[in-house]
Amino acid sequence: MPQAGAIEKKNAYEAALENFELGADALELEEDLREMIKYPERILQVNLPVRMDDGHIHRFEGFRVQHSMARGPGKGGIRFHPSVSLDEVKALATWMTWKCAVVNIPFGGAKGGVTCNPKEMSERELERMTRRYAASILPLIGPEQDIPAPDVYTNPQIMAWIMDTYSMIKGYPVSGVVTGKPVSLGGSLGRNEATGRGVFYTIQRACEHLKVSLKGLRVVVQGFGNAGSVAAHLLGSNQSHVIAVADSRGCVCNLSGLDIPKLMLHKKQKSTVVGFEGSETIRPDKLLALDCDILVPAALENAIDANNAPAVRARIIAEAANGPVTPEADKILENKGCFIIPDILCNAGGVTVSYFEWVQDEQHLFWEVEDVYSRLERVMKNSFAEVLKIRLERKVSMRTAANMLGIGRVAEATKLRGLYP
Ligand code: NAD
Repeated sequence: MPQAGAIEKKNAYEAALENFELGADALELEEDLREMIKYPERILQVNLPVRMDDGHIHRFEGFRVQHSMARGPGKGGIRFHPSVSLDEVKALATWMTWKCAVVNIPFGGAKGGVTCNPKEMSERELERMTRRYAASILPLIGPEQDIPAPDVYTNPQIMAWIMDTYSMIKGYPVSGVVTGKPVSLGGSLGRNEATGRGVFYTIQRACEHLKVSLKGLRVVVQGFGNAGSVAAHLLGSNQSHVIAVADSRGCVCNLSGLDIPKLMLHKKQKSTVVGFEGSETIRPDKLLALDCDILVPAALENAIDANNAPAVRARIIAEAANGPVTPEADKILENKGCFIIPDILCNAGGVTVSYFEWVQDEQHLFWEVEDVYSRLERVMKNSFAEVLKIRLERKVSMRTAANMLGIGRVAEATKLRGLYP
């Protein structure tokens, strides 16, 4: 139940559908086409009985959703988190479809997840659950079908277990079945940093557009995992001041700027940012309201809603997370003049380098990290320019412009493929 006076949080899938309609309306997309591209093509729900270390069997629930294959095989991460639900995975798969189309890579959208708390599981339990999940979704995945990758609380080791399980059942090594693998198993150089690096490239473009220098800008980052820590590191190395950072256990602040490489080390050793030397601890609800220039939500969906959006003071919001701003909050922030770099553009660096990894695996030919970064920068720069052009020409928000670009490309592909009679 929401507290008295609080506004109930929107289900992420409802938010995804609402944003779809805004983009489709702006494109004046016909109803028939909307019906064809709006909903997931295929949904698989699996039961995962797993033997825990104490001998008892625990049943986990898992999902794989393929939203669209109109432009290529499905692509999307796997999330291990207590709040994973079918609706959340459907929302994330839907966003993947538009995201792959925004950066114009030949993939459709998919996503997977298991409702679990990896922080309370041993390494062996996590491996057994991952392998059971991989075997259960095996009919849907494959290099030509649907290629998973890491998302919240999954990492290269988990991708290695999925690749191994898939390969054992096939009888030969199939590195192209997942991306975000360790480099020694066919992973790409630069994949680990790709999402945060892509976020950084889009912030650079936004600053160029708004005619402000990154130097001295104050940055707040919510979520200090793969996406958030790399974005914070690159911003800090480019003379911005990262003044506050949060993870699931708390928030730390230093108005003169946190030393991000040292904070990354602290997080690695203590599994939290809390207690970092030279920082003060602040309440999570104070973080989003800090006076800053750039806010990077890099944790989970719905972090900024109609309750807390009025307090946000950032000029630029860079959505490293998927769906961190609800549609209601979006309107409030737009009215305040915030420049929002929407998730399907801002965090698309991850899937872009996943695409590079898949290409390298398929060709058995691997690139230097400089090649990965320069190709990524080009993709992010071009995609940002395309979205901005639509925004300026059509006088719409960056989010609607990104949706128009992504949805428009998927609609065109769907139209060209036609309907099976
Ligand atoms: P991660 O597991 O590496 O990190 C998640 C971080 O968020 C952790 O530091 C965790 O402590 C923090 N967190 C969780 N709940 C929080 C809360 N309530 N308040 C503050 N912090 C909280 O995950 P990630 O891969 O960095 O993913 C973060 C977001 O970025 C997700 O929305 C994900 O879908 C999105 N994303 C990730 C990738 C990728 O390649 N990893 C690509 C695109 C988008």
